[in-house]
Amino acid sequence: MALNDHDLSESGTDRADTVGETDLPHLRRCIELAAEAVEAGDWPFGSVLVDADGKILAEDRNRETSTGDPTRHPEFELARWAATHLPAEERATATVYTSGEHCPMCAAAHGWAGLGRIVYASSAQQARDWKAEWGVPITSPLSPLSVQDVLPGAVVAGPVAELAEQVRELMWRSRNGDRAED
Ligand SMILES: [Zn+2]
Repeated sequence: MALNDHDLSESGTDRADTVGETDLPHLRRCIELAAEAVEAGDWPFGSVLVDADGKILAEDRNRETSTGDPTRHPEFELARWAATHLPAEERATATVYTSGEHCPMCAAAHGWAGLGRIVYASSAQQARDWKAEWGVPITSPLSPLSVQDVLPGAVVAGPVAELAEQVRELMWRSRNGDRAED
């Protein structure tokens, strides 16, 4: 576990760059979707797009293995959905919740679509640390850039230690491509 994890904001206020109480149900939904992905033989990632009033607009999970398309990340699908279905001003105030921090491809799509805040349960650095601990090779062909590396103006919150632990367990189940039941 990274040392710089920050948990729920102590003030309880909904600051944009911290994870607040209203964010938690959406993050839990992301983890449910990630679990569905694992059951289907895909990688354990799920994401939810929520409007400024807290209404869920769209959701998706990873579908890389089941479709054979390595770009089928849920964050990328939500950016495309938003670009197709929402006017620019609604995209800017929408929040993308996700079980694992956006990869550089998805962060770029998020930026091009002009979406708003990102909230993640676990960070990309955590995922890399877990894989290193397990001796699982990093297969991504991309540079390990954070969302802020790709999108310097992004408003980002996460990880949440308790939820990141759930993501870690899902990743453990998926670690060797043996994603059914172990
Ligand atoms: Zn991605």
